[in-house]
Amino acid sequence: MSRNPNLSLFIILLSIFAVPYPGDAIAAEAAVTESIGSYAAGCIRNAVPIPVSGEGFQVIRLSRGRYYANPETTEYITSLAKDISEKLGGILLIGDVAQRTGGPMYDEHSSHQTGLDADILFWQHPIALKRQLTITERAHIFPQSVLNSDQTGIDDFKWDVKIEEIIKIAASDKRVDRIFVNPIIKRRLCQTHPGEKWLGKLRPWYGHDGHFHVRLKCPPGGALCETQEPLNMFDDGCGSDLDGWFRPDGRIKSQPRTGKATHAKLPDECIPILNGTYQPGRPY
Ligand SMILES: [Zn+2]
Repeated sequence: MSRNPNLSLFIILLSIFAVPYPGDAIAAEAAVTESIGSYAAGCIRNAVPIPVSGEGFQVIRLSRGRYYANPETTEYITSLAKDISEKLGGILLIGDVAQRTGGPMYDEHSSHQTGLDADILFWQHPIALKRQLTITERAHIFPQSVLNSDQTGIDDFKWDVKIEEIIKIAASDKRVDRIFVNPIIKRRLCQTHPGEKWLGKLRPWYGHDGHFHVRLKCPPGGALCETQEPLNMFDDGCGSDLDGWFRPDGRIKSQPRTGKATHAKLPDECIPILNGTYQPGRPY
């Protein structure tokens, strides 16, 4: 078959100047997970469920459907759990991450909306350390507080040095923006790990006495993902900031009432995702 040089030139030019077929753009959008908006007012496009079990971790309370994530979160959880399993022989029970669409949850959380927040229990569940729990067993696990009964300190029967190491490894990861723990837990870690830089990532907050809440930074390239004001990593937060959480009797000050809850406005891109009409490639 003779080769037509004009045809070859035409094909070369076509390949250089070709406009991508819109179908490619649709396929690309459908294949990419995107965290949109802020941790407390956002959603997830094409969220991916995290595996329900893996080396060193098990997801609990599956019927809630809150195990969807940005793949960055899944990678973080799986690598952290592998480390915890290999270095400490520990187990991570994973609580709420995000709903399939992200967005506001009807209870408890004001964040967890973009698939970049995850709750991890402190409890080193003795059976979960040995085998995978059944779906029913997982459904009945709730975070156990590690505080003493008068809420003035840690209950050392419920605490474990292993938990301190888990938090240290979790916070030392570059992908982590901050970790929320109860002020009493932060105070304990400030006492046992004085001067260590990762303490600066631990933010005291109400509750968080049975689990820690990891918040990841926006993944690279996530143009619609809103980051938070960066923390000052030259301050470990163990000084007057932390002292300000406590009353003279050693208990934590009451959470101020903020009146009627107001919900921050969601980005426009979230509306079709949250109302179930989203289709890749369609303008919102
Ligand atoms: Zn949380």
